[in-house]
Amino acid sequence: MKKLLIFCLIVLNFGCGNFGSKLITIVILPMELNQNQEYLIDEIKELILEKKEFNIVVLDKCDLPQSAWYEPRKRYHANKILQHLKKIKPDSVDYILALTSKDISISKGGKEWGIFGLGYEPGVASVISTFRLGNNKKLLTKRVLKITKHELGHNFGLPIAKAPKPA
Ligand SMILES: [Zn+2]
Repeated sequence: MKKLLIFCLIVLNFGCGNFGSKLITIVILPMELNQNQEYLIDEIKELILEKKEFNIVVLDKCDLPQSAWYEPRKRYHANKILQHLKKIKPDSVDYILALTSKDISISKGGKEWGIFGLGYEPGVASVISTFRLGNNKKLLTKRVLKITKHELGHNFGLPIAKAPKPA
């Protein structure tokens, strides 16, 4: 009986100390992000790390996938970027967030619409574009952080009306 009690206490201890505190890892991936906008990675990192349950990994910069290129409008299809991100996401991380300076768009009602960002709802991938957010550094930062919250909100399963409003 005493042995069983000790065993239970050990299990309880582990339950609180280890298993219960697994961090949610979000990967930030710069994809053709202008050098003068690379500071935004740190801003996003800081924002996310305000919540103790998250961990951040920043990957080396890489190119946007050619499969997403839309020649007629010289843009990238955001949904195809998401498909690509889902494929390359390491199994060891929970979410992947790409940040680009290139223009991204979605098809809706037979038209192409330039957008700020897109994220699966729910899902593991999102992409943010600074292309339509202006050059004012302060404003750009504010907008990118708002969109980050919005897209991650979608990833976590919040419908559009409940996800934090974008810029
Ligand atoms: Zn949305």
